[in-house]
Amino acid sequence: MEIFRTKKGLQEAIRLWKAQNTQKKVGFIPTMGALHEGHISLIDAAKMSSDLIVVSVFVNPAQFNEQVDLEKYPRTESADADLLKKNGCDILFLPEVSEVYPEGEPKYEIDLNGLDSVMEGMFRPGHFKGVCNVVEKLLRMVKPEIAFFGLKDFQQVAIVKHMINLRQLPVEMMACPIKRNDGGLALSSRNALLSEQEKEEARIINWTLRLAKNLVNEGKSLAVVNENARALFKLSNLELEYLEIINNSSLKPVSSMHKNMSICLAAYCGKVRLIDNIQLN
Ligand code: AMP
Repeated sequence: MEIFRTKKGLQEAIRLWKAQNTQKKVGFIPTMGALHEGHISLIDAAKMSSDLIVVSVFVNPAQFNEQVDLEKYPRTESADADLLKKNGCDILFLPEVSEVYPEGEPKYEIDLNGLDSVMEGMFRPGHFKGVCNVVEKLLRMVKPEIAFFGLKDFQQVAIVKHMINLRQLPVEMMACPIKRNDGGLALSSRNALLSEQEKEEARIINWTLRLAKNLVNEGKSLAVVNENARALFKLSNLELEYLEIINNSSLKPVSSMHKNMSICLAAYCGKVRLIDNIQLN
């Protein structure tokens, strides 16, 4: 595995590889590091359809609302590099902030068509503009044929898809399933901040989502689904931030059965904010 910290080094390596491997595909996975099996599942997906696997690890300051969260974000560079090497990553891009945001370079402005005004966007103003900006920059640097994103960040998938379409970037976007632990908790870098007891308590998230899915399958109305999901969640010590049944494309809440909908949830488990979602039909 080769490691690059500069855009120049990265692009030169990819250019050389492409010159020797015409017709083959570059697969790209952007991450913020503190890597776990969830990230590795994206690499496994990438290996199925791409020939050169490029992973970036960059903690993007533009997508944090609170300076303390940015400072607190786990940074585990050498463990990340070891894990990536072991799992078949070919190129690791590890840029400094100044490499991604050179002084004087304008930010990409984007109209997210309201996709960022619901759920995560409501509680994290400006977050998705920051995500889109960095993803666009990275996609323009790496120029992959395919980019891989996890459905763990459901709203991010919808918004990045919108950005790629709007900009007409020549890249296929692949949305990959959520990787969970044996207790059903979606893997996340933030789980490392949970105590063992909190990890147990956080299982209520998955139970709530699964209850909602079962009720939908039984043909219950969405009002009943919503009410029962909230009632179950209330039995826990977690603090609910939002629970929404939404249309997968518009991300707007739906009040009656729709053929393509999901339930999305954010909650605090102690001081740790967790998100999760499940496709309902
Ligand atoms: P992050 O490092 O948190 O920015 O995540 C990088 C990518 O990994 C994003 O596309 C996430 O959605 C994805 N990801 C994170 N956790 C999981 C998981 N448990 N299952 C699948 N994908 C994940």
